[in-house]
Amino acid sequence: MEYQFIRQEPCREKVIFVLTLDRKKLKERVLIGTEDEVRSRLEGNEGAELACDTTNPLGTLLIRFDKDPEGNWNRLGLAPLRDAMHTNRWEQPALEQAAGKFLSGKYQSGEPICQYTAFRIWNAYLKTREKRRREIACEKFITEMARLTAAFRIENAMEYDPESGTPGRLDTRSLYYRRTPAEHTRLDLWFPDSSRRMECVAAYDSFLPLITYYLNRLSDWGLYFRQCKVCGKFFLAKSLRYELCSDKCRKKQALQNKREFDERARENDYDHQYKNECQGWRNVINKAKKTPGFPADRLARMKEAFEGFKKEALRRKALVKNKESSPEEFRNWIIMQKNLLLDIMDGS
Ligand SMILES: [Zn+2]
Repeated sequence: MEYQFIRQEPCREKVIFVLTLDRKKLKERVLIGTEDEVRSRLEGNEGAELACDTTNPLGTLLIRFDKDPEGNWNRLGLAPLRDAMHTNRWEQPALEQAAGKFLSGKYQSGEPICQYTAFRIWNAYLKTREKRRREIACEKFITEMARLTAAFRIENAMEYDPESGTPGRLDTRSLYYRRTPAEHTRLDLWFPDSSRRMECVAAYDSFLPLITYYLNRLSDWGLYFRQCKVCGKFFLAKSLRYELCSDKCRKKQALQNKREFDERARENDYDHQYKNECQGWRNVINKAKKTPGFPADRLARMKEAFEGFKKEALRRKALVKNKESSPEEFRNWIIMQKNLLLDIMDGS
């Protein structure tokens, strides 16, 4: 659903961020909407209108979690709106446009977390503008939204041990001076279907407990963060043996393996050729031996040439092996050699 970052009638209903993890299929699903809409969609009602309903490989939300070490969410998204509420109405549009531009970029990034936060900030701004006692309302607006954007200030939502790949724990101590605000510790847990198979969590005030929930589940399920050997993407795997993220990368790897195999086969091929060639020489010499009245000196010279050929071939083979010469060069040389033998046999 497209959202416009302009002055408009605010959404009065509570819009929540719902996450459900599928352990079996290794998928995550994110739904954004009002509680009624989300519950209706979870029951299979496609007609329910949601801002977002997206399914991704397990871990995607953590792996792609927006990082904001420079505090851009607060500086470019929130601050202009706070200023807009404290200034005269002629200066407001420019400030709104500046914040709107930043938030709209985040909204369109396709990341549900960014989409949700951008929407929440703008919608809260629209609601706050309507308030009579703007100063107090503005303060509340900033406090609430900063709670939401706090998650972008953590170093990494994909917390894990790089050695073992096991999911870790989110350490939020650096975010607070004293006590952790209650809103950063609470999360709604749902079992929306009557068979109690599905488990969902719904976030509203803060993403921090959602991240903790996610990491804990991955850890409970004994999954590992892995980095794909082919494309470099992070993914979750059932064991450390998994090195590739998807069928696409598995296909790529198989193709690469085959190419390497063919390459090696081609490289080894010159050794084969040498052995074949030796057999050819032996056949010619044996034929001469069996020929009645074949001149003995010629036969001796043929045997001598064979020894010379073998010696030189071994020297050249070593060069190919050490990459000082190519298999092609060896092949070109070896096919010319038997002529020497045939010349001696013919007496020329
Ligand atoms: Zn991959």
